[in-house]
Amino acid sequence: MRYLPIWLDVNDKPCLLVGGGEVAARKAELLLKARAQLTVVAPALGANLQRALAAGQVQHLAACFNADMLAGMRLVVAATNHGEVNQQVCAAARAAGVLCNVVDSPAHCDYVNGAVVERDGLTIAISSGGGSPVLTRVIKTRLETLIPAAYGSLSTLVGQYRDEVKARLGFKARKGFWERVLDGPVAEAALAGQRQRAEHLLREEIARGAEAAPRGEVYLIGAGPGDPDLLTFKALRLLQKADVVVHDRLIAEPIMNLARREARRIYVGKLAADHSVPQEDISQMLVDLAREGNQVARLKGGDPFMFGRGGEEIALLAKEQIPFQIVPGVTAATGCAAYAGMPLTHRDYAQSCVFVTGHTQDDRLDHLNWAQLAQPRQTVVFYMGLKNLAAICQHLQAAGAPGERPAALIEQGTTPQQRVLVGTLNSLPALAEQQPVRPPCLVMVGEVVSLQQQLGWYRGEPDSAAAQQHSAFPFRHKLPASGESE
Ligand code: SAH
Repeated sequence: MRYLPIWLDVNDKPCLLVGGGEVAARKAELLLKARAQLTVVAPALGANLQRALAAGQVQHLAACFNADMLAGMRLVVAATNHGEVNQQVCAAARAAGVLCNVVDSPAHCDYVNGAVVERDGLTIAISSGGGSPVLTRVIKTRLETLIPAAYGSLSTLVGQYRDEVKARLGFKARKGFWERVLDGPVAEAALAGQRQRAEHLLREEIARGAEAAPRGEVYLIGAGPGDPDLLTFKALRLLQKADVVVHDRLIAEPIMNLARREARRIYVGKLAADHSVPQEDISQMLVDLAREGNQVARLKGGDPFMFGRGGEEIALLAKEQIPFQIVPGVTAATGCAAYAGMPLTHRDYAQSCVFVTGHTQDDRLDHLNWAQLAQPRQTVVFYMGLKNLAAICQHLQAAGAPGERPAALIEQGTTPQQRVLVGTLNSLPALAEQQPVRPPCLVMVGEVVSLQQQLGWYRGEPDSAAAQQHSAFPFRHKLPASGESE
C-alpha cells in the first residue's frame, strides 16, 4: 500500500489553499465540504472562488505565498500553475511540519485525496497511489452507479438506532442483526426513499430481536430486451443481491451472468410449445422462496408490466403479505425502435403509437380492433406477432391499410444477433418466409419504418460464428419456430 488511508478531521480547522484558479476552486470545494476553515492565498481569484468569497465561505489573502502563512494550519494545498511556487509551498510546509498536497505532483504530496463517492454520511475514497487518476475516476463512476443515491439516508437511519441495538443485543447477535437489516427489506425501503416505512420495519426487527429468521423479499425485475447495458441501476443492484434468480426464456445469457455466482437459478420458461411452469406454480414458488428467507429476483424480459403477466405473479405475494418491489425495464418496443433506428412517434409520420399483442389466448385475432389499428399516422407494434405475421398483415389491409404501408420485423433486437427485415404489409410475410427467422421478434407497422435506412445505426452480427455460439437467448435453438409467446 503506497498510502495509509485515514479520515482527517478538518472541521473548523484552519487550512490554506495557495492559488486562485479553477483547479484551486475544485480543491476548495472538497475542503469546504469537510467544513474546513479555509484561507485562499492568491493575487487574484477566479469566478468560482470569488463566489465562495462573496458567500463568506472562504477568506482571501490577496498576496503571494510566504512561509509565515503556514502558522497554525492543519494542511496546505498548492494549486497554482507555477511549478516553482508549488515547490516552494511544499518545502516550507515540510519544514513547518504541515501536511501538504501539491496538485498533480505526487512527489510533493504528503497526502492525496483520491476520487470520492459521497452519500450523505457515507464517504468512499478511491486511490491508485497516484499511479492512475483516470483509473480511480473509472472506478468511481462504477461505484456511483452501484451505490444508490439513497444510501446516505440508510446510513443515517442505522446511525440513529445504533445505541439502542447495542443496549439490547450482544456483540454476536448484533452482527447478524445488522446484516439482516442492511441486506433486507429495511434497507430496500430506505433505498426506495420510504423513510417512515424503513423505520417502521427496523423497529419491528428490533422487537423481533436476535433470533429472528432473515426475511425474504421478491423483486420483480424488468431485464430489458437483451442488451445488458439496458438494465437499470436498480435492476442490476437487486439482481446482484439475490440468492435465487427465477427467470424465463427471454432473459439473455449475458444478463443471467450478472447474477451472483452462487445464486440459485430456477428456469420457469417454455422449452417446447406450452410446456412451461403454470403461472400459479410460479407465484407459489416465489412465495415459498421468500418465506424461506431468500432474496428472490424474478427476472422478466423487457418490462414486467408489458405483456409480461407481472401483475398476476405478484397478486399472490400481495395477498400473502410478502414484501416485494417492481422494477420497470426497457420494453421490447422502445429497445427495438431505438436500436433499429425507427422512432415510435414522429412529428410528420406518427402522432401516436399502439402496443398490441399478436398472440391471443385462443389464437384468434379477429377480436382485435383492426379498424383502429389500420388507421394512418400512427405506429403499431405487435408483440408476439411472428407466428401470425401473415394474418396480421392481411387483417390490416382488410381494414383499409394500404399494402404499401411500411412494415418491419425486428429479430432479437438490441443483441448482437439483431436483424431487421424491412418491407411493406404486402411484402413482409414473404420476406420472413424466405429465411430462418429466430424469435423473439417484434413487428412494427407505420411510416416511421421507412426512416430505418437513414437512422439505423446499430449493426448486429447475426451471421458471425461468435454470435451464433454466444446467442443472447440461450434457449432459442430448442424452440419450435412458432414458440414465441410469453
Ligand atoms: N415484457 C416483455 C414482452 C413479453 S412478450 C417486454 O416488455 O418487452 C414477448 C414478446 O416480446 C416476444 O414475442 C417479442 O415480440 C417481444 N420481444 C421481447 N424481446 C425482444 C427482442 N429482444 N427483440 C424483439 N422482440 C422482442
